Amino acid sequence: MTGQMDRPSAARRSTARLFGVYAAVTIVPVLILGVVLAVTFRNDANRRGLAEGRSEAALIAQTAVEPRLNGLPLRAGLTSAENTDMKRLVALAVGGHDVLRLRLRGLDGRVVFSDDGSGFGEKGDDDDEALDAAHGAVVARLTRLNSDGSDTGAQGVSAVEVYRPLRAGSPSRQVGVLEIYLPYAPIAHDVDSGLHRLYLDLGIGLLALYALLFSITASVSRRLRREAAINAFLAQHDTLTELPNRVQFLSRAKAALARAERSGQPVAIAIIDLDHFKDINDTLGHGSGDQLLTELARRISANMRPGDTVARLGGDEFALILCDVSDAEQALFRLRSVIAGEVEVRGLSLAVTPSIGFELVTEPDADVDILLQHAEVAMYLAKEHHSGVVRYAPELDHFDPTNLSLAGELRRGIDAGELVLHYQPQSVIARDEIEAVEALVRWQHPSRGLLSPDRFLPLAEQTDLIDTLTDWVLRAALAEIRGLREAGTDVAVAVNVSARNIAHADFAEQVIRALRDADVPPDRLIVEVTETALLIDPEQAARVLAELADAGVKISLDDFGRGQTSLGYLSALPVHELKIDRSLVSDMCQNPAHAAIVRSMIELGHNLSMRVVAEGIETEDVLADLGEYGCDLAQGYLLARPMTLAQLEQWLTDRGPRRVAGTPPSSL
Ligand code: C2E
Ligand code: MG
Ligand code: MG
Repeated sequence: MTGQMDRPSAARRSTARLFGVYAAVTIVPVLILGVVLAVTFRNDANRRGLAEGRSEAALIAQTAVEPRLNGLPLRAGLTSAENTDMKRLVALAVGGHDVLRLRLRGLDGRVVFSDDGSGFGEKGDDDDEALDAAHGAVVARLTRLNSDGSDTGAQGVSAVEVYRPLRAGSPSRQVGVLEIYLPYAPIAHDVDSGLHRLYLDLGIGLLALYALLFSITASVSRRLRREAAINAFLAQHDTLTELPNRVQFLSRAKAALARAERSGQPVAIAIIDLDHFKDINDTLGHGSGDQLLTELARRISANMRPGDTVARLGGDEFALILCDVSDAEQALFRLRSVIAGEVEVRGLSLAVTPSIGFELVTEPDADVDILLQHAEVAMYLAKEHHSGVVRYAPELDHFDPTNLSLAGELRRGIDAGELVLHYQPQSVIARDEIEAVEALVRWQHPSRGLLSPDRFLPLAEQTDLIDTLTDWVLRAALAEIRGLREAGTDVAVAVNVSARNIAHADFAEQVIRALRDADVPPDRLIVEVTETALLIDPEQAARVLAELADAGVKISLDDFGRGQTSLGYLSALPVHELKIDRSLVSDMCQNPAHAAIVRSMIELGHNLSMRVVAEGIETEDVLADLGEYGCDLAQGYLLARPMTLAQLEQWLTDRGPRRVAGTPPSSL
């Protein structure tokens, strides 16, 4: 499945790239910090070198030079005694390499003594450090020997050049300036060895900082990436099953359609809906429902081909994209049987059958929402007809979703006691006496009002719900008839049953039990079954009807004339009554063909020892003609419309002596 495509090498490449980016990004600040610190250390070391030179110069000035001066300003030159002393001093100091050069200057900057005679008698420039020192400042700088403008000769070694005022005499006063060059090499050696240690420590520290920064950045970004990946996943997936959600389904479907255009192979868009999933949720709880959905999602995914997609659209609805599929119907039937296999949920073995609708497309610009709607219409039809898998076709699109939702509500309606029975009387034409009433079901819907059977029966008949409904009608009709009997009105009640009811081998048993429970004699019940219901499984129907007839229940063949019952089959059935369909009866006065058919049917019924009922009698003319043809019973709006039990009681009372009580007709 493309949803779980594995791309380890791509992931490895992207991790390595990210690793490189982190390494580069984190090393830049560390390097800048390192350079700044190194420069600061170097400057600091130089400052310390100069300070050292300054103190050394002060020491030499105070201990060796100043005591040798007589206190007169040096501008006029040294005395010969001073000169001799100074020569001795420099012989010692310069000879011992403690000093590189020593000069004495007057306060005007002129050199009055120079150990090597250089610059003697020269005056420094106006900005010369000598003049600063003449004004009392101590000036020190790093330089090289002979690098001053006034010096001659090749540049010498590194030196600390210090200018400082010279004081002498009593009281002491400034007499001149000492210019001294101290060798920088020993100072530099001290400074450098200190700096090396510092650089080493700095290097180690920066390395540790880099490692720390790197690991923090890497871990934070890893976490952020993980969270971003989770958020991206949630935006595109269903949280329960982790399957793609509708958003991702739509984009994948579009991509699949674009691919289909290139490959020329159709794409199937399918919707799977689980039958009766709501019952599982309601009875076992949502936890079990979720467990079941998760397991089914896993099963569906495991049975998809790579490149196909399964998504959960919500509730118990899944959607599929099958690419390059040669026989989508077959593939979906296979998938259906996989889903329908038993699932163990909290110790219970559950099996849900899915209904699947699908649409096959090749057009790349097809609207995926419309394709989904088509698949949904087909899915509802699959549900309605218990056909498992249905492919969409435009002619299916008259499907009314309101009816579907009604079918879903019917179970609740039955449990909530919302069904009611209306009764329509049947009279014996010859005597104008009421002999039976037909029970006709209605649904007092809480919001839609009173619904006629054609609104909800066809849907109930597609599911097991019709069994519950028929059982309810049977028991309610028998209980109400028994009430009438007890009140002194003994009429039989006709109850309609569906094809699905008589398909159950134990249906007769169920009817007999209901009669017993209601304490109503079997001959007070007429079971109305339509011709078409008999034709679905004639042998099974014949068995059930025979069982009912044996128990004393009367069988009426409803809507006779609408189907094509073979006369041979009809004569073999234990049918007591033919009920001519109202489409033939209601217009028989205007339609001679219908009149002829009705007449023949009456004759046929009598010849087979059956009574004949005509339904749909709306006019006196029709009733008169039927009487003339020898029809036994009449039912229709002319006599009475279907009515509630209370209305029926009133209606019967109003008829007075023409009512029939407790005298079942001899022919029945
Ligand atoms: P049906 O068994 O043939 O019932 C007679 C239908 O004809 C009733 O419609 C009744 O109202 C209508 N009818 C009676 N006299 C006249 C008339 O003079 N003119 C016209 N135009 N119509 C007349 P309803 O009650 O709408 O029932 C429709 C069908 O629904 C019934 O046809 C029956 O097949 C089915 N049905 C009703 N109740 C039940 C039930 O409890 N169980 C089952 N399985 N089916 C039922
Ligand atoms: Mg009927
Ligand atoms: Mg009928």
